[in-house]
Amino acid sequence: MLCSACGVRRAKILQNHTSRKLCEQCFFNDIVERVQREIKRYGMIDQGDRILLAVSGGKDSFVMLDVLSQIYDPSKMGCATVVEGIEGYNRAEDLDRLRRYARDRGIDFHSIEIKDMAGLSVDEMVDLSIRKNIKIAPCTYCGIYRRRGMNEIAREYGYTKIATAHNLDDEAQTMIINILRGDITRLLQLYPLRIRPSKLFVPKIKPLRKIYEWENAKYSYYKGFIPQETECPHLWAMPTMRARIRFTLYNIEKLKPGILLELMEWFDSLMEKIYSEEKPKDIELPRCSICGEPTSANRSICKACELLLGLGIKVGAEVNQRQAIRIGK
Ligand SMILES: [Zn+2]
Ligand SMILES: [Zn+2]
Repeated sequence: MLCSACGVRRAKILQNHTSRKLCEQCFFNDIVERVQREIKRYGMIDQGDRILLAVSGGKDSFVMLDVLSQIYDPSKMGCATVVEGIEGYNRAEDLDRLRRYARDRGIDFHSIEIKDMAGLSVDEMVDLSIRKNIKIAPCTYCGIYRRRGMNEIAREYGYTKIATAHNLDDEAQTMIINILRGDITRLLQLYPLRIRPSKLFVPKIKPLRKIYEWENAKYSYYKGFIPQETECPHLWAMPTMRARIRFTLYNIEKLKPGILLELMEWFDSLMEKIYSEEKPKDIELPRCSICGEPTSANRSICKACELLLGLGIKVGAEVNQRQAIRIGK
């Protein structure tokens, strides 16, 4: 069977949400064009932007790197990874491939270890929390320090945007979770034109937010990038809510292909209507009295410092010093 788009090459990929059968090349082009359209629609990239790509070594990271390096100047891009320090969760090989791939395109590669930022690796934080009977999920420790690490690297090397590889499935799950929890603040953050909460946070963009997870998997596969997809050993502690929503959305999408995309488009047009009346205004969050990083409006210390204090770890100026010294390529 021939490709529904070009009518010349052999079709290999059934794109369920458009009912088209595409050849490899037309499938690649479709992804690149959709990402490009989304970036343009929300002005995600301004001329002169230096973009830091937050990569983990998985398929989504690969697609983001491959697509962005086709549509933006690679000399204005860098990649960064945050090393969590989780035993048995070794993505070193995948990361090395991404590093080589980035280097071939003239893209810098940075990394930072959570242990160097916090004094403890994620494993050590989890061990300590279990010993002290503190009921905080491993993903909380990990997530907070990954975000902070990425932000540190961006500021240190003068990047003006941080691009993350969240796909459509991730975003739809987060949307439903926040609706069910009634968490309006987090819900609004899914919109690309959200407010900037602090000058110290480098603005984030999500170029793949309208690309299905399966599309990223196929794109990687047909481009020869097949990640090991090792599972995080702390996955057992993953919030069950996300696991359930993920499963449910997957089934709904199977019954009605394209529904997740429609959901995201619905959300975007709703937000466009809301913001057409009143443009979101940037705010400036207060600073943590310990580390100086931004913290929520009603707090005096940030979540990162609170987590360490909760574990009985001393936090202060020396933590920041360690950070400054150890950031490197
Ligand atoms: Zn084709
Ligand atoms: Zn702090």
